Amino acid sequence: MSTYDITVIGSGPGGYVAAIRCAQLGLKTAIIEKYDTLGGTCLNVGCIPSKALLDSSEHFHNAKHNFSEHGIEVSGLKANLEQMIARKADVIAQTCNGIKFLMDKNKIDVLTGVGSIVDKTTVKVTDKEGKESLITTKNMILATGSKPNFFPGMEPDKKRIITSTEALKLTEIPKRMLVIGGGVIGLELGSVYARLGSEVEVIEFADTIIPTMDRTLGKELTRVLKKEGFKFNLQHRVQKVENTGKGVKVTALNKKDDEVTFEADICLVAVGRKAYTDGLGLENVGLTVNNRGQIEVNDHLQTAVPNIYAIGDVIRGAMLAHKAEEEGVFVAETIVGQKPHMNYNLIPGVVYTWPEVASVGKTEEELVAAGVEFKVGSFPIKALGRARASMDTAGLIKILADKNTDEVLGVHMIAARAADLIMEAVVAMEYRASAEDIARICHPHPTYSEGIKEAAMDATEKRSIHA
Ligand code: FAD
Ligand code: NAD
Repeated sequence: MSTYDITVIGSGPGGYVAAIRCAQLGLKTAIIEKYDTLGGTCLNVGCIPSKALLDSSEHFHNAKHNFSEHGIEVSGLKANLEQMIARKADVIAQTCNGIKFLMDKNKIDVLTGVGSIVDKTTVKVTDKEGKESLITTKNMILATGSKPNFFPGMEPDKKRIITSTEALKLTEIPKRMLVIGGGVIGLELGSVYARLGSEVEVIEFADTIIPTMDRTLGKELTRVLKKEGFKFNLQHRVQKVENTGKGVKVTALNKKDDEVTFEADICLVAVGRKAYTDGLGLENVGLTVNNRGQIEVNDHLQTAVPNIYAIGDVIRGAMLAHKAEEEGVFVAETIVGQKPHMNYNLIPGVVYTWPEVASVGKTEEELVAAGVEFKVGSFPIKALGRARASMDTAGLIKILADKNTDEVLGVHMIAARAADLIMEAVVAMEYRASAEDIARICHPHPTYSEGIKEAAMDATEKRSIHA
C-alpha cells in the first residue's frame, strides 16, 4: 500500500494548487481525480471554456457591430459555432495538459478514480473498471468542488433544459434562449449566445440582476445588456420547465402572483451551484454536511477530524477559482506549521460580460446595513479618452470610503478590462489605503485605470478633474 503525507481528493483549482504547494513544502503528495483530465470544473467546464467562448463571441459581435465605425469593412461575416467549440476544446486541452505537466514537475502522484475516505488515514481509489486500491495518508485535503444546482420543476434533461456544462458545447446557435437566473453564469453564457444572434430572455427571482453585487452595477449592467438585445423578467418565480419536443416552455409567477409562460428553443438553468460530496465517504469518519451540502470547517479549514481539511466550492464562501486556490495554499502551509493568512473580505468578484463587471470589499448596501458612515466617489467611463478611442464607453467606477478615516471600503466597477483593473483596488485595500492615497498616485494616460484615480478624487472632496 502506498503511503503519503498528503492526499488531495479533487483536482480543481483548489486541489491542484494545494497539491503543488504541499509538494513544494517537501510533503509526499498524491492527488485523486475521478475524470481523465485534471483541472476540475474551472478548467474543463467553467472559467476557461466560458472565457474562450466569451472572447470568440465578442470578436464576432465587434466585427458585426463595431468594425465599420473603426473603418474596417467586412463582408460575408458568419459565426461558425463548430469552430468556436473546437477552439474552446483545444484551449481546455492545453490548459489541462499544463496541470498534468505541473503534477509531474512537482513529483505528485496522480491517481485516476473516485476517491473515498475509508478511515482517517486510509483512502480508497476506485477506477472506471471498478478496480479498487487503498492508500494510507497522514493528512487529507477534500477539494471535491460543486455541481450545477436546480430546484424542483426545473430538472435539466441536458437536451433542451440545460446547465452551463451543455451550454458550453451546443451544436447550433438557438434562435431563442431562456435563462433562469440573472447571476454570473446566466449573464456570461447568455452573452455568448446573444452576441451570436440568439434572442436571450432572463427570468430572475430577485428585483435586480447580479443581486449579490453593489446595486449600482446591476442597474448599469441591465442597461448595457438590454442594448445587446437581452430581455429581463425580474421578480419572477419559476414553477415549471418543460421540454415540449420542439422547444421549452417555462411557467413562472410574477410579483403579482400571476402565471406567465415563456417559450424558447432552449432553457439554461443557472440558479447557483451546490457543494459536491457524493461517494466521498464522509460518514466513514463521522463527518456530516450542513444544510447547504457543504463540509463544515473551522478557521484553519480543518474539518471535525483534525487531519482532514476541506477547501474550495465544497466549503462555505464564494464559489470562485481564486478563492479555492488561496485556500489550497493556506491549508498546505497550515499543515507544515506555518501561519498563513487569508483576507476573505478582499476576494474580488468578476462577471465577464462586456464591459466586464468587477467588485471588491463592501457594497453600499452592506455598509448601510452595518451602519458605517461612508462617502461615495464615482466616475463615468465615457469621460475617459481611452474609452472613446476604443469605443468602450459604457460603465462607471464607484469607490466607497469611510467618511471619517477615508479608508477605501469597497470598489465596484463596470468597464472594459475591469477584471484586471480591480486589482489596483485589491492591492490598495490590502494595504488599507485611503481614497486620498489612490487620488495622489500617478496613473498612466490614456488608460481605463485613470477612472479609478478620478473616482478616488471624487470620493475625496468631489475634486474629480474630468467629470
Ligand atoms: P472543482 O473545480 O469543482 O473541482 C473538483 C474536482 O473534484 C472535480 O474535478 C471533480 O471531478 C473532482 N471530484 C469530486 N469528487 C471526487 C471524488 N470523490 N474523487 C475524485 N475526484 C472527485 N470561477 C472564477 O473564479 N472565475 C470564473 O471566471 C469562473 N467561471 C465559471 C464558469 C462556469 C460556467 C462555472 C460552472 C464555474 C465558474 N467559476 C469561475 C467557478 C469555478 O469553476 C469554481 O469556483 C472552481 O472550479 C472551484 O474549484 P474547486 O477546486 O473547489 O472544485
Ligand atoms: P449565481 O448565484 O451567481 O446566480 C444565480 C441567480 O439565480 C441569482 O441571481 C438568483 O437570484 C437566481 N435564482 C435563484 N433561484 C431562482 C429561481 N427559482 N428562479 C429565478 N431565478 C433564481 O449562480 P450561477 O450564475 O449559477 O453561478 C454559480 C457559481 O459559479 C457562482 O457562485 C459563481 O461564483 C460561480 N461562477 C463564477 C464566475 C465568475 O467568477 N466570473 C462565472 C460563472 C460562475
